Amino acid sequence: MVSALALARAGVPVTLFERKKYPFHKVCGEYVSNEVRPYLASLGVEIDALGPAHINNFLLSAPSGNTLREPLDLGGFGISRYTLDYYLAQQARQAGAIIREGTAVQELQYQENKFCLKLATGEAHFTDLVIGSYGKRTNLDRHLQRPFFRQPSPYIGVKYHLRYHQPKDLICLHNFKDGYAGISAIEDDKYCFCYLTTRANLKASGTISQMEASILSQNPHLKKIFREAEFLYPQPEVINEISFASKTCIENHTLFCGDAAGLITPLCGNGMAMAIHAAKIASNCILEYLTGRLNQEQLEKKYTQLWQQEFSRRLQTGRLVQRLFGRPILTEMVLHTFKQFPAGVRFLMKKTHGKPF
Ligand SMILES: Cc1cc2nc3c(=O)[nH]c(=O)nc-3n(C[C@H](O)[C@H](O)[C@H](O)COP(=O)(O)OP(=O)(O)OC[C@H]3O[C@@H](n4cnc5c(N)ncnc54)[C@H](O)[C@@H]3O)c2cc1C
Repeated sequence: MVSALALARAGVPVTLFERKKYPFHKVCGEYVSNEVRPYLASLGVEIDALGPAHINNFLLSAPSGNTLREPLDLGGFGISRYTLDYYLAQQARQAGAIIREGTAVQELQYQENKFCLKLATGEAHFTDLVIGSYGKRTNLDRHLQRPFFRQPSPYIGVKYHLRYHQPKDLICLHNFKDGYAGISAIEDDKYCFCYLTTRANLKASGTISQMEASILSQNPHLKKIFREAEFLYPQPEVINEISFASKTCIENHTLFCGDAAGLITPLCGNGMAMAIHAAKIASNCILEYLTGRLNQEQLEKKYTQLWQQEFSRRLQTGRLVQRLFGRPILTEMVLHTFKQFPAGVRFLMKKTHGKPF
């Protein structure tokens, strides 16, 4: 969506296909790192007009309830995807992008320097360039035979909106056996409560509510949330098939952006910032191509180089951090170590975040 907005602002004819209809809820912790602010502002995106929460403190708890609290270097803002994605869609449309909602892309073919997108409506859409920003795993990955698709995707994500009492400037990450949950404020005095766990955890418990009662609630902070919060959805939003396997950022001449190019573990809280940063890199490379400064081969090479330079390390560190959490004894040890050496937390935060862009 950010690529569509950036390219439309630069006068490029652009069509965005979205299989759902805005506004809609998405499984996401809804914390966005402040590193995105300069670029979004340059595109005329007025985040503060949406009434986000301003977040600059972090609390980590182990399954036992032990905690560690640290200020966030750069901080971020809390805004629901329901509000943010809808607003971005309106901005992109006003800038001249064609947004085709409720239109899934089913196939993507490249022939004789042209792409042909086969749409669920039965139409074929022809175009010169494609940005693949369709998220972590879809039918298109199977169709393109992307290697990561065959790897196991053992995680599930669950999300709620709540009314709760927690300082609005605080994001909490509460660990439990084989998972972790984030809670932080968003707009309209609401909180986003979102967790990641394994499919095996759910299978062993039977249902989501049984898993929340028997496993998540062993952490006293999570128990308190389940006891005291007002849950605002009748049912949680749930997704499965989440994996953090490495991917490629170009395939079949398609420039992949965001989760389609690589998903950083949610506990880093940097996925949206990375997706927005990749959108900036892709849009700038495309503008160079369209003005004749790069040919197609150079475009693909430059995008790959810039993408890897910016994100490869962050994704690697994210995978490492993911291994530190979810196992109760290890999490306890990590928390204990970080309490003794708070510089370690700041170091990890720096390694999993970028600079303002
Ligand atoms: C549990 C969890 C918590 C997270 N918490 C945070 C957080 O707090 N902060 C953060 O920064 N990041 C977080 N993330 C990561 C963040 O959600 C993603 O990194 C971010 O949404 C990536 O954006 P994207 O545009 O690449 O993909 P998405 O936001 O997934 O958007 C892809 C879009 O493509 C559409 N689509 C898919 N297939 C098709 C198709 N075939 N045709 C047409 N449309 C299609 C989908 O409907 C979707 O709207 C979290 C992720 C998880 C799993």
